[in-house]
Parts: sequence; C-alpha cells; structure tokens
Amino acid sequence: MDNLWAPWRLQYVESIDQDEGCFFCHHSISKNDKKNLLLHRGKHTFCVMNLFPYSNGHVMIVPYKHVGSLDGLKESELADMMVTTRKMKRLLKKTLKADGFNIGMNIGRVAGAGVEHHVHMHIVPRWSGDTNFMPVLGNTKVIPEAIQTTYSKLKKVHDSESKKRK
Ligand SMILES: [Zn+2]
Repeated sequence: MDNLWAPWRLQYVESIDQDEGCFFCHHSISKNDKKNLLLHRGKHTFCVMNLFPYSNGHVMIVPYKHVGSLDGLKESELADMMVTTRKMKRLLKKTLKADGFNIGMNIGRVAGAGVEHHVHMHIVPRWSGDTNFMPVLGNTKVIPEAIQTTYSKLKKVHDSESKKRK
C-alpha cells in the first residue's frame, strides 16, 4: 500500500488521551448519531466514520463489546463484523464510486492502533491516482465539512436500502 499523506491525522494522534474514556463506547450509547457520524447499527457491531480519515469515506466497523483483541469476541460477533464490513464496502462503492479498498485492523499500539482497547476494522476507500491527489486535500480546515457532506450522502443511501430490505 502506498502511504497516503494525511497531515490532519497528526492532530488526532496528539489528541489521543487514553484516560478520557472510550469514544467508541460513548458513540455506541449516544443518541446523537449525526454528530458522531454513526452510519449503521447492527446486531453486534456498528459503523462510524473516522473523523481523522486516511481518505474520504474512511469508516470503522466496531463491536459494541469493549475488547482490545479479537480473542474477546464470540464467533457470532466476529461474523457480524465481517458481514457489516461487506455491507459498508458495498455502500462506499455504490455511493462514492471507490475503485478499491484497504480493509484491515491495527491491533496494539505498536501496530498503529489509535484506540487500542477497543478493537475495530478500518475500511479506507481508494481511487485510481489518489496518492497523488490526497496532498491537495491536506488541509485540516476543509476536512470536517467534507466529512459531514460525505456522511449525509452515505446515510441517505444506507437508510433507503435498509427500508427496501424490510
Ligand atoms: Zn470501548
């Protein structure tokens, strides 16, 4: 994987304070899904957008259970995580027309986990030529607005597809 240049992530890395409580757990019980950029609530996992993304549409699949390792999850919870990953990948493909994806987990601080006590799966959409394109977007002031716009787009498609299935 070519490294994306994402300087706004510095702010994130500097802002991590493990004593402040777990923001995944906070998001899972909060009612303010729009503010928290929460896209989907499934049976065992939910999906939230990354406020300090590697690319536009960077989302995370998170179990409701606060565990730092895959060993703490039951098979049904692991399966739900993977099914939700597929669902969100399809949503990103359809809505943002992504050409490809990086999907994976960072387990432990040494591997780059930002929130090391609550395991989560990353989906980073990629577009042809995005490693050249990303530096142009590397402005911390632009990103939060872009995220809200992307969130609204994704949420709209997600909700209409959920309704169709019922
Ligand atoms: Zn947690």
